[in-house]
Parts: sequence; C-alpha cells; structure tokens
Amino acid sequence: MTSSFIPYGRQLVDEDDIAAVIDVLRSDWLTTGPCVAQFEEAIAAFTGAPFAVAVSSGTAALHAAMHAIGIGPGDEVIVPAITFAATANAVMFQGATPVFADIEEDTLLVDPTDVERRITPRTRAVIAVDYAGQPCNYDVLRQLTEYNNLTLVADSCHSLGAEYKGRKVGTLADLTVFSFHPVKHITTGEGGMIVVDDAGLAEKMRSFRNHGISTDHRQRELRGTWYYEMQQLGYNYRITDIQCALGLSQLNKLPAWLCKRKELAATYDEYLRDSSFTPLATRPYVQNAYHLYVGRLPLAVDRNLVFQSMRHHGIGVNVHYLPVYLHPYYRQKLGAKDGLCPQAEKAYERILSLPLNQTMDETAVERIVRLLIGAMEQ
Ligand SMILES: *Cc1c(COP(=O)(O)O)cnc(C)c1O
Repeated sequence: MTSSFIPYGRQLVDEDDIAAVIDVLRSDWLTTGPCVAQFEEAIAAFTGAPFAVAVSSGTAALHAAMHAIGIGPGDEVIVPAITFAATANAVMFQGATPVFADIEEDTLLVDPTDVERRITPRTRAVIAVDYAGQPCNYDVLRQLTEYNNLTLVADSCHSLGAEYKGRKVGTLADLTVFSFHPVKHITTGEGGMIVVDDAGLAEKMRSFRNHGISTDHRQRELRGTWYYEMQQLGYNYRITDIQCALGLSQLNKLPAWLCKRKELAATYDEYLRDSSFTPLATRPYVQNAYHLYVGRLPLAVDRNLVFQSMRHHGIGVNVHYLPVYLHPYYRQKLGAKDGLCPQAEKAYERILSLPLNQTMDETAVERIVRLLIGAMEQ
C-alpha cells in the first residue's frame, strides 16, 4: 500500500464539525441531551418522515425496527442475499428466521418476483436493501407486502438522500433504517436512525433504546421526578449528544456531497463506457445516492488478480458482498446451501466496488479507471 491509498469510502470531517463537537463537550449534556432530538428532527425533515429515532448504530436501528414490529421466534423475514450481514442478523437477534431472496442481475437489488416466491404462512416482514445507493422497486414491493399483510422495512444504510419516482427514501417503506458509520454518506462515528410514520412504533423504539424504560434521564430531570418504570426488555442503544452534534453538522453538507458523488459516478460511467467492466444499471425513475460504485468484471478476467493489482497501486477496491447465507454462521445455523440464490452467487463471483467518496476528484477517477483497464488486460 502507498501513502496515497484511496479507500472505497471514507469520512470528510472539517473545522465546523470539530467546533460543533467541542461545543457539546463544554455543555451539560454529553448524552440524552438536546442534540439527540435536534438530529432526529433534522433527519425527519430531510427525509420527509414524521418521526425519527436515533440509536447507537445502523445495526441497533435494524434490531429496534424488528422488535417494534413484533418479530419473534417462529417468524420469517425475507431479506436479500446480497447485503451486509447486519440486515439478516437483526432478524436472528429476535429469534426469528431470515429467508434469503435473490437479486436482479443488472442492479443487484432484491427481485420482487423472488420475494413473492419465498412468502410462507410464517412470513411477517420484508427488509429491502437499497444496495449501493439505489432505492429498490418500492411500488412493486409495497403492493406485494400490502397484499400479503407484511411489514415493509427499508434498510437504507446505503441510500440516505436517494429518491424513487420523486419520493425521498424514508417515505417509501413502513420503517426506514440509516447508518452513520464513517463509510456512509454522513457520519457520527457510530450511529443509526429509524424513520417511521407511526407514532406508536416510534415510541416503542425510543423505549427499546433505553432498556425498555418509559422516560429518559433528562425527561425525569425536567419533570422533577425520580420514578420510572421498565415496561419491556430493552437495550442500551442510545447515541450521544457528542455524536449527534457531528451528525447535525455533517447533514448540512449532505446535499453538496450527493451532487459530488453523482458527478464522480457519471465520470466513472463515461471513462468505463468502452471497457469490459459493466457498472450496475440505475433505473431511470430513481435518484441514486451512490454509496458504492459497483461493476462486474468479464468472465475471462481473474478478479483476484485485478483486486491485488489495484491494491498494489493503492486503490481500495472491495467486494460487497458475499451472499449472507454463505457465511459459515448461516450455513451452520440455517443449513443454507450453494444454489439458494443463483443470481446472487453469480454476481458475487464477478463484482468489484471502485472507490467513491466525497474526498475524491475526477483526476482520481481517471487514474483508477486507467489502472483498472490495465489490470483487466494483464
Ligand atoms: C452499514 C450497514 C449496516 C449497519 O450499520 P452499522 O451502523 O455499521 O451498524 C446495515 N445494513 C447495511 C446495508 C449497511 O451498509
């Protein structure tokens, strides 16, 4: 690796962000303070969702969502084969069973036809994943879940700021989950959020992130009371004010960063047009948030050689993701076998993520493409 290593994703933190965090460090509330509610309101306003609940990670957000909708032992939840493991893990946390659905070949988004095939009398919910930043086909998924009386959850950890047919991510499913890990669009270090249009579900998740207790420390202090009740079993999934101050400051920059990502992706598209590397398709009715820039290598090319050559030149290419059910844990737990989702397995063999982050410029894209084409020809 060289000192000019270009990672596939990384945060951009400036002096405004640092100043915002320092202000909180000097204030009375490091956690459960006013910044948490401000960050929730800002994300709700940005996405157009009525309620937002901030938690300690995207994974905690998925868990809170599964808990709030009452997923439990004996239930099945359909998840795409190609996603980060946390999507399926959240189903396992609740003692339920993730059922893997295959993906569409050109977008790697969950295939609604295959989702329909995997519905059983035990199915309770579907988690759609907006892979790489592109919203799933929500009109079809909505129709399917409404018809079968299932809850539709969006794992939108890749797609904060994306749109589907003119509607923002956050308003397309019953519950929508975001992550603020440093590789995502905006960061709080670690952090997550659920947006929802149901006040009751929001309340359940607020309690769930705080041990299942009905009020938090600040609410009791404001009311001048010590008494509280634990109403259900919850966790400590709280996010700090220090983190939310960073998130609020980062959110100011998100619109410009989304434009930047789109421009970088368009530059990749252009430079790669005549190459044998095939970028994922973006549907004409979506605004892609471009968390990742993913494409497919031709069959004749050895991905390991390309990967090693790129890494040797300091280019942080990556592979997102091994089909979740092929992880040893899921093979053992669910007895999942090769061939369960053929498109996902086929795609997994050929895909490569090229670096895409708001610290890059067009010169970097040109260099990456030049190195990629060289590596594919070796
Ligand atoms: C990042 C991510 C998560 C988990 O988020 P954390 O904040 O890292 O816990 C879940 N699902 C997907 C698709 C992700 O990319």
